[in-house]
Amino acid sequence: MTVPPHAVYEKTSESDICNICLQQQQTRLTLDHVPPKSTLPMRQVLVKPYFHKAVRTVGSQSGVKYRTLCVTCNRDRLGRSYDPALIEMCRQARRLHRNADLITQQPFIEIDVGKVIRSVLGHLLAAKDHTPRSRADDDMRAFVMDPSSTTLNSLRILYWAHPDRSIRLMRDTLIVQFGQPQLDMVRCDMLVWYPLGFLVCDRPTFNMPCLDDYLGLVGPVPVPLRALASGVLERWLGQVGMVTGAPSDSAYQADHPQKPEIEW
Ligand SMILES: [Zn+2]
Repeated sequence: MTVPPHAVYEKTSESDICNICLQQQQTRLTLDHVPPKSTLPMRQVLVKPYFHKAVRTVGSQSGVKYRTLCVTCNRDRLGRSYDPALIEMCRQARRLHRNADLITQQPFIEIDVGKVIRSVLGHLLAAKDHTPRSRADDDMRAFVMDPSSTTLNSLRILYWAHPDRSIRLMRDTLIVQFGQPQLDMVRCDMLVWYPLGFLVCDRPTFNMPCLDDYLGLVGPVPVPLRALASGVLERWLGQVGMVTGAPSDSAYQADHPQKPEIEW
């Protein structure tokens, strides 16, 4: 996938179908920020794709934008119903990051688990320039579309407090772990940025709490938040193999050149 200078991904097929609700649209699809703009400091970030041969870095003011969602899914489902829960989780995580004593004690945060998961899955679904009907994507889609659902089928959602000032997005990627007696492959989607990380997978790949363990609890509930040490994710990614299903599958990394200065 080539990255245009303005860091906006346009769909190249099924151009009028929303990536979440699958409804054919009569009007142009809307831009979705991944991660949500409201959780990012408004500073320039440097974006470069994984997997693309001609890797080049481009600037973006607010992460990467995908024109893949209808107005209802973007503004109402994510923007009004689910993103506020993710923003609140970011606020609590950021506060813990600023207090090194607290973050190393495995503190609890209070979040609306169902809404946080729907927000994360919704933005991951947006981050494709096509609309795959894979089993994992359909499970994610069904959960986002049904606010009463408490099942993700086989999907697990690892989460952690992420200390590094970098953004990592991967969609529909096979992680190959070396050094195992048998070839060990896990399908995953990943969205990581300061202050949080989420890994959606069919089998937990490292020892972190799973957010889906708390599904079905109504309203804000306490969940543990473990912090990943700085650099650990990068070292892990450097040790595993990563394979995407199609050349256009999106994956990118972005680095904040400077420490974000926005206070939450
Ligand atoms: Zn939609």
